Amino acid sequence: MNSPAEVTQRPTGTGLATPVQYVKGVGPRYALLLQKLGIQTVEDLLSHFPLRWEDRRHFAPLGRVQHLETVCSSGTVVGAVAERTPRRGMALVRVVIQDATGRAELVYFNQPWLERRFNQLKGSPICVFGQASRSSGLLTFQSPEWEELTTDEHALHVNRIVPIHPATEGLTPKQIRGMVWNALEKFGRYVRETLPVSLRQRLQLAHAAEALRQIHFPDSQEALERARHRLVFEELFLLQMALAMRKQALGPQLPGIPMEIGPEVPDRLRQALPFPLTRAQERVIGEVYADMRRDHPMNRLLQGDVGSGKTVVAAAAALATVAAGYQAALMAPTEILAEQHARVLADLLAPMGVTVRRLVGSTRVKGKRLIYEEMRTGVPALFLGTHALIQEAVEFANLGLAIIDEQHRFGVLQRLTLIDKGAGERAPHVLVMTATPIPRSLALTIYGDLDVSIIDEMPPGRKRVVTHWKPKDQRERTYAGVRSLVRQGRQVYFLCPLVEESEKLQAQAATELARRLQDKVFPDLRVGLVHGQMKSHEKDEVMDRFRAGEIDVLVATVVIEVGVDVPNACCMVIEDAERFGLAQLHQLRGRVGRGSEQSFCVLLADPTTEEGRQRLTAMIRLHDGFQIAEQDLRLRGPGEFYGTQQSGFPPLRIANIVGDQQILEVARREAFALVAEDPDLAGAEHVPLWELIHRKFVGLLLASVG
Ligand code: ADP
Ligand code: MG
Repeated sequence: MNSPAEVTQRPTGTGLATPVQYVKGVGPRYALLLQKLGIQTVEDLLSHFPLRWEDRRHFAPLGRVQHLETVCSSGTVVGAVAERTPRRGMALVRVVIQDATGRAELVYFNQPWLERRFNQLKGSPICVFGQASRSSGLLTFQSPEWEELTTDEHALHVNRIVPIHPATEGLTPKQIRGMVWNALEKFGRYVRETLPVSLRQRLQLAHAAEALRQIHFPDSQEALERARHRLVFEELFLLQMALAMRKQALGPQLPGIPMEIGPEVPDRLRQALPFPLTRAQERVIGEVYADMRRDHPMNRLLQGDVGSGKTVVAAAAALATVAAGYQAALMAPTEILAEQHARVLADLLAPMGVTVRRLVGSTRVKGKRLIYEEMRTGVPALFLGTHALIQEAVEFANLGLAIIDEQHRFGVLQRLTLIDKGAGERAPHVLVMTATPIPRSLALTIYGDLDVSIIDEMPPGRKRVVTHWKPKDQRERTYAGVRSLVRQGRQVYFLCPLVEESEKLQAQAATELARRLQDKVFPDLRVGLVHGQMKSHEKDEVMDRFRAGEIDVLVATVVIEVGVDVPNACCMVIEDAERFGLAQLHQLRGRVGRGSEQSFCVLLADPTTEEGRQRLTAMIRLHDGFQIAEQDLRLRGPGEFYGTQQSGFPPLRIANIVGDQQILEVARREAFALVAEDPDLAGAEHVPLWELIHRKFVGLLLASVG
């Protein structure tokens, strides 16, 4: 688990490194649950920032609370009685409170001890927070949060701006709130400042300890804003510092490999392709070639929505590289995709004399050895593969171009490793391709300096994928639709529900779905299955059969999420669609709509949250990958979106890449200026910063050296 504390990391031995179980109210049992949230130490707990805050400072008069309103109210306790529920015999406590305007009943289940507790409070004021219901005049709160109303300023759960922390099963936000409070009380004094005083004063940033207290338990909206601003700045500043230091450690860049690319190179490609390039493809290929002719290594990000035709650009770059006598490598995130690229690119490029080799995890040892040998001896060819390309044994003698497809599946470290495979006197050109449009500010954050090319035009004749959201009980009608499409000679994907716990369970779920569809629903059709636990030749075989039209309905897991291209497949049914993220749904939907005929996407979903509903309606409404990405960032935050777990970056805890771009820019400027001024952070006021950065970003900093 990443150690998330931005603000509070200190050398070990101080109080903040204390295991969280010693915080009052935690103990060994809850410590285990906290671990699920990535919290192990006190400092982790203190950096477990609230998701949102609720202003519970104003009490709604009981007489005026509306049905289904979520409110904070107060009243004096009239009395409490214990009962059992009629049917299931659950313990039930009913409490009556009143204020000058009316009465309300609070109902609690399975907490029989509350009867005594409330009766002790008879006549005393309490406040409650929760959703009310009103029927025939009677106002009821079911299991509201409550607290004695004292004049004590330390009210925790009501009568203040209350933090709602991310919670987990078995641990409510209310419990976590109490733990955070106790942690602040006991350990808050260990929080030290890491930002240089001069910087803090110039930018008028709140002090670390104060910011941390206010982010959890703000005194006012203004104090909350100030605290958030400081913490966001700090988080982004540290990240930028690490990048600036890494860049500095790398020293001046290696020169690139200038390649001679004459006009005959793209001409040969144009002649070989069965379709004319789109204007956007022409432009982007031009940009890539211009970079590759230079003495300075290309570092280009190619963005283009799903289906916009990025592969052709990769082909163009690889063709030029091999024609110039260098090696090219293309890394894809899945074996299926690597296989598809190998097929498509070999078909296209082999007739032009380009050798194409495929290296994946399951490649036979003997085959691997031959390929390694070719890599090592500098045979000019296009080497395609998965992570296998960055395995230790791989070494290129003559790498001129590294292409990374669907970069969002790879981390920064993996990208750097591939580039390093060719490290000699000169750096290879790098082309990173993605269907996930990255806001420029984030691109800067992740890649440092890079150029961006955009394919902003789809190949002609594409139709929008008509997208429906259906409740799950309308499955039957969806099946009928699928059957009629198959009758017309088309093919259909069924995306099986996402099982996050394990690949194995995921495979089981897919197998079951395939069996059910084959046996019960489509006994007369040919149902196929592909999932991540299959051997790679099995996967290849299924995909080949699907491509050849020998399978009508292909049940698949997200192994087909990226890149797979079978134009005759015109319908994608996504089971339990509410479990998928927006960017992922868009990727999946991108598997269809690749031919010129009308395609469909059916989302079978019964979302239980507002966010889930928003995701589904966004899918119906939006078709443009860029808009979807922005919406996704808004709904989910950048950490998950970019899969930062494996990117070498600590996840962003509080900053929002979309909303906090301005702060990001200031942070970037300040960080690069500071590193220019004091490269080793040797100045006395920079020492705490140095320690913190080294602790947080070991991976990133090491990547520059190793
Ligand atoms: P992505 O950008 O998602 O990687 P692909 O490169 O897989 O997209 O291309 C999607 C499909 O569009 C492929 O079937 C490809 O052959 C086709 N395609 C690419 N460029 C063109 C074009 N200029 N005209 C028509 N079809 C094209
Ligand atoms: Mg692709």
